[in-house]
Amino acid sequence: MLKMFRRGVLLAGATAALTAQARQAAAQATVPVQVRIDPVYPFTVPPLTYAANANEPYIDAQTMDLHHDKHHAAYVANLNAAVKDHPQVAAMKLSEMLSRLGELPEAIRTPVRNNGGGHANHSMFWMVMGGHGGAPTGDVATAITRDFGSFAQLQSDFNKSGLGQFGSGWPMVLVDQGGKLSLVARPNQDSPLLDGRRVLFGNDVWEHAYYLKYQNRRADYLAAWWNVLNWPIIAERYAAATSQGLAI
Ligand code: MN
Repeated sequence: MLKMFRRGVLLAGATAALTAQARQAAAQATVPVQVRIDPVYPFTVPPLTYAANANEPYIDAQTMDLHHDKHHAAYVANLNAAVKDHPQVAAMKLSEMLSRLGELPEAIRTPVRNNGGGHANHSMFWMVMGGHGGAPTGDVATAITRDFGSFAQLQSDFNKSGLGQFGSGWPMVLVDQGGKLSLVARPNQDSPLLDGRRVLFGNDVWEHAYYLKYQNRRADYLAAWWNVLNWPIIAERYAAATSQGLAI
């Protein structure tokens, strides 16, 4: 600390500030912008970065359209309505609203939990899809093998978790700042952000996510979903999580 202080004094103030800024910008440039966005009020539905039919034949375009444009939009509208008359809450980022839920006015805790969780969960969901599936590579693959035994074992455990979720919810893989992965299932729209944790990827097993195409065959949907995962984006989420840059 002393050394840093001395150097700061020796350098001209403006130069020191510029250098620090340039250094920060360079560090942040290694983490893609998309994974660093912590949404703020007024909340909006993030546009899909791929066509609604990009996940076919595994997830049909009509389901994508309804899910993104209607279901997610409703969570966003309800979240905005819940916080609009609470300036101190509206000034918080989404991750803060959820991790500090107990500090919020009691009247809006449930709507923020449900709709803020819904906004965070779906924003993650769109981001990790639109890909070509296959197997993970690099650090994510190493972490999966280390923490679950193998990719096949993770898929099996994850699908079992999603199938066993009574009613609506999400099977998810969490990632901590050390890069350790764990599997959880959360009911309704409960987000791991409520506990200050971060999701690497997760699947939506609400019926609205699959009923048009799969009807009651949730197991088939869970099995098919791996084909649309975007591993390069998941790798970026992993890199961000381990450098404390994964926003939601
Ligand atoms: Mn959904």
